[in-house]
Amino acid sequence: MRILILGGTREARELADIASGERGFDIVSSLAGRVRQPILPAGQVRIGGFGGVDGLRSWLAKNGIQAVIDATHPFAGGMTANAAAAATSLGLPVVHLRRPAWTEQAGDNWIRVPYLVVAAETVAGLGDRVFLTVGRQGVAAFAESEQWFLIRAIDPPECAVPKRHEVLLARGPFTVADEVELLTDRRIDALVTKDSGGTLTEAKLTAARELGLPVVMIDRPRLPEGATQVETVAAAWDWLLRQAR
Ligand code: NAP
Repeated sequence: MRILILGGTREARELADIASGERGFDIVSSLAGRVRQPILPAGQVRIGGFGGVDGLRSWLAKNGIQAVIDATHPFAGGMTANAAAAATSLGLPVVHLRRPAWTEQAGDNWIRVPYLVVAAETVAGLGDRVFLTVGRQGVAAFAESEQWFLIRAIDPPECAVPKRHEVLLARGPFTVADEVELLTDRRIDALVTKDSGGTLTEAKLTAARELGLPVVMIDRPRLPEGATQVETVAAAWDWLLRQAR
């Protein structure tokens, strides 16, 4: 069975690892090409956009894909919508692998917001020094802010950035001890993050709790109406096995 895994996440790589090692599955993973030195999944990999829903539909048909697993990041809403639309229009099964969102615990001070622009407005009232971990593409929403920002991303932002900032290039996982040290050293007043979920970048939330700092948490975009969702790699693999029967 020929499968497309839309990737760019650890879960997508784990699934590609499992499925590529199984007889009867021919896996192609797709990456957007945003990160300069991506961690490549096992098996075949293609890199770059498809050209919207139409481009993806043609690509799926031309490459004989029989099922699609959208294992993109929870905030890759455009790719998710395109995957659902293109696969459905061809009558192909499609599943969305979304790790669970983070949940607030005792001692947390989270302010949930729907979009980046609302996050920028909200954090403006929370002190001068902000830790921003919204991915380099998200930084533009803060470009007009007067506050000082510690911007952490895998690659440097190429968009407009706030006047007062420091860029810290790093890729998770991060430890709680390192995050506490970073927040303390940079005298951070508040954090802004997307609700990515998962353990890779969760330590900053524990660190914020320990230091009593507020967190502006940006909610995920919704999945398309009627979409099938699974939350773990194991569940996505089960789904795939069911399609193969
Ligand atoms: P997006 O806004 O949903 O996608 C914009 C366009 O980028 C899509 O329409 C598609 O172009 C192309 N694209 C996105 N993911 C692709 C993939 N896996 N393979 C081929 N083309 C892809 O996505 P994004 O938020 O920019 O994220 C891009 C990639 O980074 C995703 O693969 C995602 O898993 C990963 N990522 C995103 C975040 C985040 O916070 N957004 C965090 C970590 C990793 P066409 O329309 O031309 O097909």
